[in-house]
Amino acid sequence: MEPIVLVHGGAGDIPDSRVPLKLNGVKKAASIGYRVLKRGGSVVDAVEEAVKSMEDDEAFNAGYGSVLNLDGEVEMDATIMIGANLNSGGVTVVKDIAHPISLARLVMERTPHFLLAGEGANRFAKVQGVPTLPAGSLVSKYAREALEDFKKHGDNRTEIGEKGVGTVGAVAIDSKGRMAAATSTGGINGKMVGRSSDTSIIGSGTYADDNVGAVSTTGHGESIARFCLAHAIIYEMKNGSSAAVATANTLKAMTEKLKNTAGAIAISKGGDLGIDFTSKRMAWAYQIKDEIHFGIEHGQHTKEKAKN
Ligand code: ASP
Repeated sequence: MEPIVLVHGGAGDIPDSRVPLKLNGVKKAASIGYRVLKRGGSVVDAVEEAVKSMEDDEAFNAGYGSVLNLDGEVEMDATIMIGANLNSGGVTVVKDIAHPISLARLVMERTPHFLLAGEGANRFAKVQGVPTLPAGSLVSKYAREALEDFKKHGDNRTEIGEKGVGTVGAVAIDSKGRMAAATSTGGINGKMVGRSSDTSIIGSGTYADDNVGAVSTTGHGESIARFCLAHAIIYEMKNGSSAAVATANTLKAMTEKLKNTAGAIAISKGGDLGIDFTSKRMAWAYQIKDEIHFGIEHGQHTKEKAKN
């Protein structure tokens, strides 16, 4: 089987001005993940590295550039899961950590738990030697403006909001059919202090099972969590749907039922892909051999030669 790392950069009402930044970021992340697999790295390494590159990128709502809570702070969530043994780890409401996805991986590998929250997660980071950044280092100018805007107008323009969309995620399969999934977010602009998102919940934001497939979701977190969106897509695949059909049908069902939008990426155990969203846009990309495939609009599937 051809190894694939498929990434997304968040579903929502992405304004035109942000489209090139998002596309550059997802293409770069897909290439980084793909190179990890090609070098013989594991699927967990691949999804972690792909997500880290988007956490570093201000264009996305994860790590640096995350949206702000009502107090003007960054509080982040991330989860990672291995399809071979269903092992998973997550962090929620964590502050001042450059790569929450790597901390989630440490929770998976070095604790008996699947999720650490808030102060406990930050304390665990310190014990593990993960640097705590000076307070406010992850706050970008764009995120500050988005919060001011939210406070002035409320966020009623769309269900996810125009600014501050861009949760990131990755799913990967290697030549032996091993799979992993990872998702990382700053949450929703203007959220209450202490709000946890779907991204921190296994089965909502992230899921991977080598017997079925791997999924990462994005969009209106409260709806995604109530619908257990990632696992609902897995369930459809388990019942015989392709990744594309399972992703499209489940997103449609969630949006019909809960009146909010979302997006998801999925890989089935056979290596076929699902990429869909009920929001206006969602940036996504993957690399196969020396070709990058990407899109952000409904129906878009563009190919170009990868820069290596
Ligand atoms: N799902 C994320 C959250 O609710 C936001 C997003 O995906 O854009 O926190």
